[in-house]
Amino acid sequence: MQKVDEFDAAVVGLGAMGSMAMWRLASRGARVVGFDRYEPPHTLGSSHGQSRIIRSAYYEGPGYVPLVRESFELWRELEQESGEAILTMTGALMIGPPESELVSGSLLSAREWGLEHEMLRPAEVHQRFPRYRLRDDEIAVYDAAAGFVRPEKAVAAALACAKALGAEIHTGVAVESAEPGAVRAGGKTWRARHVIVCAGAWNSTGLLPQLDMDLEVMRQCMVWFRPRTPELHTPEAAPVFVHGTAGSAIHAYGFPSVDGETVKVGVSSDDTAQHPDEIDRVVHPADVEPAVRYVQWALPDLDPEPVRSVICLQENSPDRHFVIGTLEPGLSVLAGFSGHGFKFASVIGDIGADLALNRGTSRPIEQFDPRRFAASRR
Ligand SMILES: Cc1cc2nc3c(=O)[nH]c(=O)nc-3n(C[C@H](O)[C@H](O)[C@H](O)COP(=O)(O)OP(=O)(O)OC[C@H]3O[C@@H](n4cnc5c(N)ncnc54)[C@H](O)[C@@H]3O)c2cc1C
Repeated sequence: MQKVDEFDAAVVGLGAMGSMAMWRLASRGARVVGFDRYEPPHTLGSSHGQSRIIRSAYYEGPGYVPLVRESFELWRELEQESGEAILTMTGALMIGPPESELVSGSLLSAREWGLEHEMLRPAEVHQRFPRYRLRDDEIAVYDAAAGFVRPEKAVAAALACAKALGAEIHTGVAVESAEPGAVRAGGKTWRARHVIVCAGAWNSTGLLPQLDMDLEVMRQCMVWFRPRTPELHTPEAAPVFVHGTAGSAIHAYGFPSVDGETVKVGVSSDDTAQHPDEIDRVVHPADVEPAVRYVQWALPDLDPEPVRSVICLQENSPDRHFVIGTLEPGLSVLAGFSGHGFKFASVIGDIGADLALNRGTSRPIEQFDPRRFAASRR
């Protein structure tokens, strides 16, 4: 007798990527079940902290631009369907020495895709957006199609929409194993034609033995400061920004005030890799110090005494590019979203639905092939 699958798709991990995959699968009429070890949206993974930058002139590579374009449309669709405000447009400043990867890469993407952008000298930045201070040897690329997404609202909205469309959601349930066509969780085996694993930092813990690459998890800290002149930090007055230095992967980044009272700033950390279950969640003075030093010289209107801070996990692939694809028939992975994946979550969720329901996608994901490191590991 032919075996009947209970679900069309099972999703492991309901953070940014999993919640969006649930929504997109359910939107297409699929019977879908999803699991999370915690209660998303939560503060123990990678998708918390009030805001995530979305930008178009992508310094990480022009290949990301078509995906980010689509992600804007899908964020708006999620807003319409859920009635939640998720995306705010502010423009973005990509700041650094002209030869930095941040500036030259942003320009490359802007020019290759004909994106609306401007080159601004330090005095021009200060005149238009007075809160910023640049060094004389720096410039800024102003990327018009940019802003921020609210991560907790987005995850909650996607899960609520999926549920309203009939999706089955199990939270507080850790998946023990995932294989083509089946997931083991909560003492049961759940059958599904296709399994999508998007467990964020926990992708690195052996859940997917088929994944032939080393994923590493890094501890990052986000810090909130109080402005002295709040009108300089509104979404209208202050674009989101990324500020880089020549020859270093360390960037500062920040937002306008999302809550009308505080401003979030982060400085990326290249700390050593850690197991996600062993991460120290306590914020220590050394964690906030780089952001304090940064606001003292670059955002002088902020009172440098932090008012809030939180730890967040970053999951990196060896080249810090995403890992998206089918590992074997019936099993796909959405992983390695590093410090820049959230903005794409809406379209990545839709790609997950393509992989599960159509066994492939027309979206340009070749550069994210999960097998790209296999040869170098032999
Ligand atoms: C400090 C910081 C700042 C960032 N800033 C930006 C930004 O400005 N713009 C941007 O685009 N991106 C940004 N990112 C990156 C972005 O936030 C991440 O790429 C994205 O959130 C990753 O989503 P995810 O779904 O892979 O992981 P998560 O959202 O963490 O989801 C994984 C989920 O899987 C669940 N899970 C794990 N194991 C299991 C299991 N065995 N069974 C069931 N469930 C399980 C977890 O509980 C979790 O809910 C930032 C990241 C960090 C850390």
